[in-house]
Amino acid sequence: SKWVYGFGGGRAEGRADMKNLLGGKGANLAEMANLGIPVPPGFTIPTEVCTYYYSNGNTYPAALIEQVAEALNRVEEIMGAKFGDAANPLLVSVRSGARASMPGMMDTILNLGLNDVSVEGLAKRSGDARFAYDSYRRFIQMYSDVVLGVEHHHFEDILEEAKTDRDITLDTELTADDWKKVVGKYKDKVLAQLGAPFPQDVHDQLWGAVGAVFGSWMNQRAITYRRLHDIPEIWGTAVNVQAMVFGNMGDDCCTGVCFTRDPSNGDNDFYGEFLVNAQGEDVVAGIRTPQQLTKHGRELQRSDLPSMEEVMPEVFRELNAIRHKLEAHYTDMQDMEFTVQQKRLWMLQTRTGKRTTNAALKIAVDMAREGLITRKEAIGRIDPAALDQLLHPTLDPKAERNLLARGLPASPGAASGKVVFSAEDAEAWVKDKKEQVILVRIETSPEDIGGMHVSQGILTTRGGMTSHAAVVARGMGTPCVAGCGEVRVDYAAKTLKVAGRVVSEGDVITIDGGTGEVFLGAVPTVQPELTGDFATLMEWVDTIRILKVRANAETPTDAATARKFGAEGIGLCRTEHMFFAPERILAVREMILAANEKGRRTALAKLLPFQRQDFTDLFNIMQGLPVTIRLLDPPLHEFLPHTDAEIDEIAAAAGVEPDAVKARNASLHESNPMLGHRGCRLGITYPEIYEMQARAIFEAAVQVSRETGRTVTPEIMIPLVGAKKELDILKASIDKVALAVFEESAYQLKYMVGTMIELPRAALLAGQIAESAEFFSFGTNDLTQTTFGMSRDDSGPFLEVYRAKGIYEHDPFAQLDQAGVGELVKIASERGRAARPGLKLGICGEHGGDPSSIAFCQSVGLDYVSCSPYRVPIARLAAAQAAL
Ligand code: PEP
Ligand code: MG
Repeated sequence: SKWVYGFGGGRAEGRADMKNLLGGKGANLAEMANLGIPVPPGFTIPTEVCTYYYSNGNTYPAALIEQVAEALNRVEEIMGAKFGDAANPLLVSVRSGARASMPGMMDTILNLGLNDVSVEGLAKRSGDARFAYDSYRRFIQMYSDVVLGVEHHHFEDILEEAKTDRDITLDTELTADDWKKVVGKYKDKVLAQLGAPFPQDVHDQLWGAVGAVFGSWMNQRAITYRRLHDIPEIWGTAVNVQAMVFGNMGDDCCTGVCFTRDPSNGDNDFYGEFLVNAQGEDVVAGIRTPQQLTKHGRELQRSDLPSMEEVMPEVFRELNAIRHKLEAHYTDMQDMEFTVQQKRLWMLQTRTGKRTTNAALKIAVDMAREGLITRKEAIGRIDPAALDQLLHPTLDPKAERNLLARGLPASPGAASGKVVFSAEDAEAWVKDKKEQVILVRIETSPEDIGGMHVSQGILTTRGGMTSHAAVVARGMGTPCVAGCGEVRVDYAAKTLKVAGRVVSEGDVITIDGGTGEVFLGAVPTVQPELTGDFATLMEWVDTIRILKVRANAETPTDAATARKFGAEGIGLCRTEHMFFAPERILAVREMILAANEKGRRTALAKLLPFQRQDFTDLFNIMQGLPVTIRLLDPPLHEFLPHTDAEIDEIAAAAGVEPDAVKARNASLHESNPMLGHRGCRLGITYPEIYEMQARAIFEAAVQVSRETGRTVTPEIMIPLVGAKKELDILKASIDKVALAVFEESAYQLKYMVGTMIELPRAALLAGQIAESAEFFSFGTNDLTQTTFGMSRDDSGPFLEVYRAKGIYEHDPFAQLDQAGVGELVKIASERGRAARPGLKLGICGEHGGDPSSIAFCQSVGLDYVSCSPYRVPIARLAAAQAAL
């Protein structure tokens, strides 16, 4: 079988759609080669070999060696150079390339093919012995570290010594002879450490590097990254072996990273950074501050350094043409790496570019308008969960702020937190102290990934918009200010200094990743305006989706927010939330403490006007859109006080002895309150409670219908039903109240009485229940709790263990368990609709705002999902994607 795929010289054996086999990098290199774009020739060892390697005791398929040799021959032919040659040596890079991009997580080796002989060849060919020996020592250092396990610091020490001996401080001041000596000492060090010399056979070097890349698939960093990004281990990585080109052979060389559009705001600007006379990783590593690609970019960044457009106009034009070609070909924004060796442009990589959510929206909408993609494709390109970022606060423009410093706006959003200076501290403070932190680093590296993940925001003092911190933060949606050069970090003292001010660990700062500003203290934030591209995409979304989207809301503020975000009604108004306001809770407690029905009715009469006003407000805000009101659900003890002081106060107010309150508390105590005297069981035992609520609803509906001329059709919902008879009894009593109110007010309106499906029994007996219920709403919070027999309030800690052990893949309270709970939803839907054709079905558990659960809801034919107001846009988009 085929274990090696070559590319270069205007053709390739692979294609972009072979990512699973060739990895992202390899597939795209092949695609570029096929497009006639200048790519250094090379070959890809596919992911299948990685899988083979791990399932066969770290060995390779038999035919691999020969196929690699053949592919290498072709590279030599194209480059006109020979691997290990004394006169004209071919050098290669060896890099990982998984299906999904895992930036910086696995090993890379550059300049492979250098040895004591070929280094002389390189010196002659390049006419630069200094460059050749510098390349050789870089290679020895990298290879020894990655492949041979000789730690970095040994080499750093030798280098420092060399500089001290010559009384200089910069690497660039070392001469060819100096480097030659350093190379000698490096080799001695390897020999001393390993008892074996540094490998001089270039083929040994190559196979060592290939093994190291496959080995790095299982290093701790890569494992952590895969866990955070849901990347399966069995995918494996490919290995790309590619001819080296040099961006550090002089001032007519450079290396850079660029995006076909601006990844932070989505503008159709060619965006990128480059470094003159530098090698591959220097730009990404953030060690030198890079120059901008375009004049426009330089002006935007107020940079004094000239742009590539200015210093290498011809190569820039060529690069710009490739930018257009690649974007048109892939019909998406690309992230590219390039190197210019002595004025000759080489493309090293292209891939779909990571972008902020704002940029994603703008790019999708712009590309649809440009005709590059369809509207449906535009909708499919936005991750619903990522919309969250846009729906979150930014700094209040009116708030006072104390500007500390300014860096690059690397990842948008505003965040405040306590300053910590290491990724480990970030994790510890968040986990153990429950603090919100801002991680401050000179620069970040892949080891910091865990700490970056838990931080509210990230601030670095070095590096550009494509530095590790910037790229990773954008991917995570975490606010980030990068390259904040005025700030001096002292890791030992755990302080940062800027303009004579000192900020210590634990002090609060605020960063604005949209502007690059850093402030002392916490700055208040405001809600975003949802206009422009967001609004446009949402309009398109609404023309596609089938599912309706409602909101769970009870306060006027929540209802107004829901409307603003495009909710098409209220799917769940939890009336108990209305009982806690100070002027009401007293009446609620009086009702609970009353000795008999008469006493309860007296207390409920005090609540009636409040409830009526609540519903009047809701009906007014929702302007004729459906409003589903759920009658009282929680067990009564939740409303009673528990401290002595509170008990005394309540007793005095209610005119009873404190002991009577305590006695009532004791009598209401339950071992399993969530399975206890709650939901419709309250309505069955204390009918007067639901009667009051029903009256408030009907009176409010009549009043609003009369006043506005827009008829309100209330949907009254009964919680925790398990039997048709419960519903029958409660519905009869609601009908009676309706009749009374209509008679009193001489006004008639339609209403519906329906039920929540929150118990497995209700789901199974849905056929019977639907004979009485006019609609179902799946309360999947309780339905998950009761199906799993697992408390929705307390299961967090052991669920984590369950997920770690792979028993349940996701938290079933966040993402609907389709196999179990979903099956009940399906059964109930089918049985309900069989009994009552056209029965209206919705969901109002937390899952109503979760994209994967929404797709499931669509597949079982629900009419709507209902979720918290802030998730409404996410749900609208997810519903549209489910309908694509
Ligand atoms: C549910 O159980 O899913 C539900 C929406 O009701 P609550 O969360 O109020 O119990
Ligand atoms: Mg419930």
